[in-house]
Parts: sequence; C-alpha cells; structure tokens
Amino acid sequence: KSLQAVSLPISASKSQIEQKPRQPLCLSAKHIEEKLVIVMVGLPARGKSYLAKKLNRYLNWSQYPTKIFNVGEKRRKVATSQQNSQHSAGFFHPHNEAASKLREGLAMAVLDELLAYLEAGGCIGIFDATNTTIERRDMVVRRVREANPSLQVLFIESQCFNQDVLESNTMLKLSGPDYKNSESSEALADFNCRVSMYEMKYSPISQLDENKGYSYCQVIDVGIKTITHNINNYLSTQAVTYLQHFHLYPRQIWLTRHGESEDDIAGRLGGDSPLSKRGLDFAQALPAFISQYQRASSEKTSASSWMDKLGFLATTINVWTSISQKSVQTAQFFKECEGKQLKALDELSAGLLEGLTREDVRYQHADWFETRETNRFLCRYPGTAGEGYCDLSHRLKNIILEIERTKNDTLVISGLGVTRVLIAYFLGLMHSEIPSLRVPQGRLYMFEPQPYGIQKAEFDFDYETKKFVRSLSDEGSEGLSI
Ligand code: PEP
Repeated sequence: KSLQAVSLPISASKSQIEQKPRQPLCLSAKHIEEKLVIVMVGLPARGKSYLAKKLNRYLNWSQYPTKIFNVGEKRRKVATSQQNSQHSAGFFHPHNEAASKLREGLAMAVLDELLAYLEAGGCIGIFDATNTTIERRDMVVRRVREANPSLQVLFIESQCFNQDVLESNTMLKLSGPDYKNSESSEALADFNCRVSMYEMKYSPISQLDENKGYSYCQVIDVGIKTITHNINNYLSTQAVTYLQHFHLYPRQIWLTRHGESEDDIAGRLGGDSPLSKRGLDFAQALPAFISQYQRASSEKTSASSWMDKLGFLATTINVWTSISQKSVQTAQFFKECEGKQLKALDELSAGLLEGLTREDVRYQHADWFETRETNRFLCRYPGTAGEGYCDLSHRLKNIILEIERTKNDTLVISGLGVTRVLIAYFLGLMHSEIPSLRVPQGRLYMFEPQPYGIQKAEFDFDYETKKFVRSLSDEGSEGLSI
C-alpha cells in the first residue's frame, strides 16, 4: 500500500477534541467499594511469600492498590532491637508460652498496620504469616471484622509435596535474613527443627474452616492443583483466577514493538501501514536471535534441576501479535512457532486523534495535550474509541493470565503503549511511570521468571550490522550474553 492510501482522514474538529478529557470509569480502587484482606497460610518454605509477591505485583498492576504486611520481618526487627539477632527453632515451639505470646502480639500489630492501610485508601492488604492454627485464623477474622465488618477475607494456603520444590524453597530460606549469620549445616538443622515445631500444631484449612463460611484457595505444588471454597466477591475472584494460572516451569517471555512502519517514519499516531525497509530487517533478524538465545540458555540450565526432570526443554515459541499488519509482518519470518493474532494486543487507540502526528497534537490541540500531561495514565484520547493507559491494563489482563499459564517460551509483538503496559507488569512499575517508559523500536526484552523474582535482559537491533547487541541500559544485569 502507498503511504497515501493508508493515511487516515483527520475528521475531528477542534471543539470535539478540546473538551475536558474523559475520566476513566474502570474497576479500580476508586470505583469499587470492596476491600480485601488476603491471609496467607502454610508451613515455612511452602512458597507463601513467593505467591504473595506475585499477587501483589499483579493486583497493583491491575489498578487495585495492594501491599504486603509480613510478620517475619517485624519479628526480625524486634529480635534485633532486643540484641537477640536471631530466633532459633525453640522460639517456635508451641509450648514456648512467652514466645507464643510475643508472636501473637507481633501478628496482631502487623494486622493492625494492614487495617490502617486499608482505612487510608488501600484496596487489598496481604497478611504474610504462617497462620497455621485454627485459633490464629479465627483471631485474624475476628480482628478484621471488629475493625470493619464490610472487609472481605480470603485465605490462601500454600501446600507443597514436591520434594525438589521443597528443597529449593529451603535453600532460599537458608540464604535469607533468618540465617545470615549461621553456618549452612547448622542453619539447615535449625530450619528443619523449626518446621517440625510448626507441624506439631499445624491444621491445614479444612471442613472446620468451611463450616465457618471462610473463603479460601488452597494452592498445591505451586498451582498444579487448586481447591477453592466460597469465593464470593470481585477482588477474591481476581486473586484466585490469577493463582489458577501459575506454574514453575522455566520459560522466557519476550516482548518487542513491531518493526518500523511507514506511519512511524511519518510520526503518525495509529494507522496500519506496512513495515519500512528497516522494519523488515528487524523482523528478519528476530527468529535466529531468539532461537540462538534459547539454545544458549537451555545449555546453561543445570541438568540436575528439578525442572529438567519434568522433561521440559524450550524448543518452540509462541508468537502473539496484534491484528495490525505491521505486527503481523514483524512475525512473518518465524517458521516453527505457534502464531496467534490477537485483537486484545492492538495498540492504544488515539480515538479522534488517530492519523495525526505527535507534533500536530501538541500544537493544534495544545489544551488537550496539556491536560493530558497532568495524568497520562488515566487520561483517555478523545472520541468513543479513544483509550488511556488505564484501559490498556484492563484489556491486557487476559494476555497476562495467558502468558502466566503457558509453558512455552512466548514472544509478544505489539505497539508502544501495549509493550509499555506489559513491561510494567513484569517489572512491577508504578502506573505513573508507564506512559513515559522509554521503549525504542528495535529493542527486545526478555523476562525469565525465577524462584526469587524475574531475570531481565534487553537487546537493541543494530540496523547497520543487522545484529542484536546487549542494550546499554541493561549493562551489568544478569542476562545471558551471546
Ligand atoms: C515468623 O515469625 O516468621 C512468622 C511467619 O510468624 P508466625 O508463624 O507467628 O505467623
């Protein structure tokens, strides 16, 4: 298609555009009355904090202000202030009355901080403690109801039977703050002893909790099986749906913008023009680079890791694009892949401003442009089709769930706005940071979920040599360089 044929008519009148930008009506904390207390349950080293951190990142990204309140951290602060920098296993013995009293007091103090956070405008508080006894769970529910009877409570219990996962969780614990001054065999013996102290009084969530009407989700072996009961409110459904998409298989998630298009050269918003010569060069180089990186990383993965025992090896890749031809053309050189064109990945719509250049918008619609600058995350483009970043994060929820669920490596090719919002999920960015995130065309992002967080690597396409190089902004990070 010629440039002329694809350029868009500029039909919007100035008066249509210079109206006050529409405020979003999205289901965020400001627009729903509900508030939720998530109460983690489980023995030490069952992945509670891992689940809590992932949930926290997802829920914040989904526009429900969420915060974790961790009892272990509070206990360590108290221990340090009492010149007793470490609590050994005996501290957790159920018959150690003084310690039990202290633990209970700490737990309630942390819960009160959580309740104050909700009172001050937070939407979801995650109470990260063991909560392994019926008495503790009842006490938590009582305290929450006393503070505010309209608060919802959701228990999330993590159980883990897979020995390899347990071992790897235990190793993480031994390198954590409770054992930073201990020799490794001593630390291991103490930790195992601590777990057996908890086991003496552990009551997994059961019929007894159901009889009290408690809402819960049991997550077994990090998502292989989930059991739910009485999930009866919006925010709990959001949290549980997310948990049901979890797995621990190693895989890489690649994100990039489509290659340069004719509209990009002209600096126009939107449009559906074909790739330029540079865009085609970028598209052509993508498959070989990614498969070379995949091969290098599967060689690096230790043959003894439990993940390998499950027989997983990244040989294929999902390639998901928007339905615009510039995205589809960027994926065209992948031969062995599971390709999908998804409308949900379409670029943020500039509504009545589609087809204008950014400069046109800035100078011809200066009032609108200025108002938008006051909150670029919430502000929508004018016209009924116009979207804001807040709309994108709703539209992309299912894409995130699908990325979490899938076990293959996945490459997502989309526009600037969509790529920014997806990156924000993986990096846990604040909403205010999203609209100004620098994501140049030709940059390729790789995210690899790890037990302790996410490993990231960034590459830039060199249009001269037609090769990818480690991007300068990524120097010093842990990604592979090949
Ligand atoms: C802890 O102290 O590390 C902790 C999680 O507390 P509790 O077992 O009392 O919930």
